[in-house]
Amino acid sequence: MSLVDSAPSSHTHDAAASAALNAEDRARILAKAALFSPPDATLPDGRRDLVGLSRDELTELLVEIGEKPFRTKQLWHWIYHQGVTDFSAMSSIAKPLQAKLAERFVVGRPQAAMVQTSTDETRKFLFRFRDGQEAETVYIPDRREDRGAVCISSQVGCTLSCTFCHTGTQKLVRNLGAAEIVGQFMAARDSYSEWPSPKGDTPRLLSTIVLMGMGEPLYKYENIAKAMKIIMDGEGIALSRRRITLSTSGVVPLMDRCGEELGINLAVSLHAVTNELRNEIVPLNRKYPIEEVLAACRRYPAANNSRRITFEYIMLRGVNDSEADARELVRLISGLPAKVNLIPFNPWPGSAYRPSTREQQNKFAQIIMDAGFSSPIRTPRGRDILAACGQLKTESERIRAAQS
Ligand code: SAH
Ligand code: SF4
Repeated sequence: MSLVDSAPSSHTHDAAASAALNAEDRARILAKAALFSPPDATLPDGRRDLVGLSRDELTELLVEIGEKPFRTKQLWHWIYHQGVTDFSAMSSIAKPLQAKLAERFVVGRPQAAMVQTSTDETRKFLFRFRDGQEAETVYIPDRREDRGAVCISSQVGCTLSCTFCHTGTQKLVRNLGAAEIVGQFMAARDSYSEWPSPKGDTPRLLSTIVLMGMGEPLYKYENIAKAMKIIMDGEGIALSRRRITLSTSGVVPLMDRCGEELGINLAVSLHAVTNELRNEIVPLNRKYPIEEVLAACRRYPAANNSRRITFEYIMLRGVNDSEADARELVRLISGLPAKVNLIPFNPWPGSAYRPSTREQQNKFAQIIMDAGFSSPIRTPRGRDILAACGQLKTESERIRAAQS
């Protein structure tokens, strides 16, 4: 079953019809996403996981067990600022209440089924969730500074089947819930002992989030939105919206909402400059073609000259890497507050493409830079542990078999 219909959309409708269509599409995507829901937040023993609840939901639960709403602030601090998972370590809460909470609730974490560290220090986690499903999270340290980015997955698998992506070869198993999305970040922090959360601008290793792991984050926008609101909450993890980037393959109806509600940075996986090629390599293009994706970028509320939209462009030898392609790319994005991130293709077993030559990458980058756009070529990280972009796929069984 696919989350999207692949019928091409009409390009002739006027703005009002387009808005109505967007609303309709948005409703359809959200309804379908519900079919791929994460497991219930209540454990088999009846205890409820508190991670992933909004403040209001947490308050409701506390009131249900006869506690005052002000406890929410206390618990929030312990869970999201201190990173504590054990109620008995919550020292500002009296012992009897600690016991009462422990009887009814847990502060959950996904289980690290595997952790691999690359020769370049990139660390890949395979997290197992309560129903046994697994997804990968990658920590990518910055080479120059004592900080880095956590690359978070949004789905187990992906429905979209981009031809160059390893995740796309795995069919969608399910969406990840807010608890599982926040949980990936919290568990990665556990691994680096990075609690409590910093106040203000105190640097931390795990200082940035990129929603660029397995899956299409805008196909489960509500879960992502809930998780990001928890992560941005100033009394908890308190990560600024400027330090969070969501990468989408171009789910147009939800791009606006993401900008309005969350105000996080946007990255768009463009990868081709003609609809003909993009239809083939990013099949979602048949639904939301290049011109609609770019129009959504032009409207994106959280973009300006100090916060540019990143266009991701994978360099596939002889497929999309000509100088004419580079010039067309410049034409398409002209006038946008944009930068282009050129991604060398990361091969995976069975992939059909080859990376562009270094020379071709440089020529391509130069054309974009000459037009005034920053155009870094992304250094592949963690290739030795299949942690680089597009290499993620839950292959625990295979790796475990290879190790035993
Ligand atoms: N689904 C979202 C986010 C996850 S993919 C999206 O497509 O944007 C994160 C980035 O890795 C995307 O730009 C994606 O196109 C790119 N990518 C996928 N496979 C890749 C590969 N084999 N080599 C390099 N980049 C790849
Ligand atoms: Fe899904 Fe993104 Fe991979 Fe495409 S590139 S298959 S949208 S994860």
